[in-house]
Amino acid sequence: MGARAHPQAPAPPQGSRAQEAVDLTSLPNLTKNRPAPSLFTPHRDQMKQRESILHIAFSALSLLASLTGCTRPLPPTEVPKIKKAYEHAREALKDRKFESVLASLGSEDFDHDYDSAEAAHDDGRQVLGKLQDADSTYHQMVTSTKTFALAKAPSHPKTNAYEGSDPGPIVLAKSKLRRLSETDWAGTFVHELAHRAGYSHGENDPEGKECTVPNLVTDLATWTTDPTSSLQGYCPALVRAIEQYSRDSVSDSGPRSPANELVGGRTSLALP
Ligand SMILES: [Zn+2]
Repeated sequence: MGARAHPQAPAPPQGSRAQEAVDLTSLPNLTKNRPAPSLFTPHRDQMKQRESILHIAFSALSLLASLTGCTRPLPPTEVPKIKKAYEHAREALKDRKFESVLASLGSEDFDHDYDSAEAAHDDGRQVLGKLQDADSTYHQMVTSTKTFALAKAPSHPKTNAYEGSDPGPIVLAKSKLRRLSETDWAGTFVHELAHRAGYSHGENDPEGKECTVPNLVTDLATWTTDPTSSLQGYCPALVRAIEQYSRDSVSDSGPRSPANELVGGRTSLALP
């Protein structure tokens, strides 16, 4: 979408102030004491008129961009947050907590109803492998293009992001860039990578879809990034796997990492 529209507006008037006065009185609904009300009335100051035309043309271009689904580079002010979120997503996918919990899930723990026949029987280990492959492919794209995501006006208010065209950048909803946190965006990157790995959740409404692979791994990544986050609304099989992982970590007699201390602290509260 590099083409620029040329504003098709009436040419500004060339007349002098004397002509202007004559023109004003000649208009049927205008008096001398009444200012010209419209942006398009050819009696306003030329500069103001041009500014207005440019403003309208820019608004029209923005509207056209949103309607035709144009993608844009991220606004510079939002780049640091999104870049960190992408790094968090990559860290989560390689985190021992994420790997262990996901690999402990069986095929029946996922809602594969929306997946293709090829992916419909994947267990946690297979999901993990495909997800890490998708991450690796995406990282190669990011390294070669220096672009980790693009922005676009969302077509639906609930849309946070689009998986984009593989191997191009993931596309984030422009209107949510400021509103969502770094952790939210990290989960979103993991979600979109799950789509690229071949998993689906059907329509965008997340209601009742918490066990689909994209939504389940989003929640798992959120918990991995912040183990104090609430498990409310997570897939029940995921909650059981996280609780089992936490119990195993507590009973592990080996040396504890700071992450394990955190998990242990959380779990000791949850256990009877
Ligand atoms: Zn999705």
